Amino acid sequence: MSTIFSKIIKGEIPCNKVLEDDDFLAFHDINPRAPIHILIIPKVEYKNFQSVDPKLMEKMTKFIHKVAAHMGLDKSGYRLVTNNGEDSGQEVMHLHFHMLGGAKLTWPHVADADTKKFI
Ligand code: 5GP
Repeated sequence: MSTIFSKIIKGEIPCNKVLEDDDFLAFHDINPRAPIHILIIPKVEYKNFQSVDPKLMEKMTKFIHKVAAHMGLDKSGYRLVTNNGEDSGQEVMHLHFHMLGGAKLTWPHVADADTKKFI
């Protein structure tokens, strides 16, 4: 099933590219949730992390490290998130990692969990 990310890979829809190689593409999220919010995707289609071939992850990890270094986030730190399936709120059914950084990010405390609000 083709998604908007397939169109971005093919160049049919523009993106603000960060890095690309034969297998992966990194580009800025259109609706950033942090000062730096990059999406990192494989060019082959996997619906999400749960369905990815684990062998791809070795290469993808190296690419993610390159993106972080390219942005200077390897030094300052970043959060890497992948939404997987319905309960996570995944909207685009093409495996992607969100790389978030460029500021001190908040993280829920135990007190937040008591209020039964989940992020
Ligand atoms: P998900 O909720 O599936 O984990 O995240 C999908 C992400 O894709 C969202 O953060 C959304 O802002 C981003 N997104 C959706 N469509 C586009 C697009 O056309 N271009 C870019 N750059 N990001 C997109």
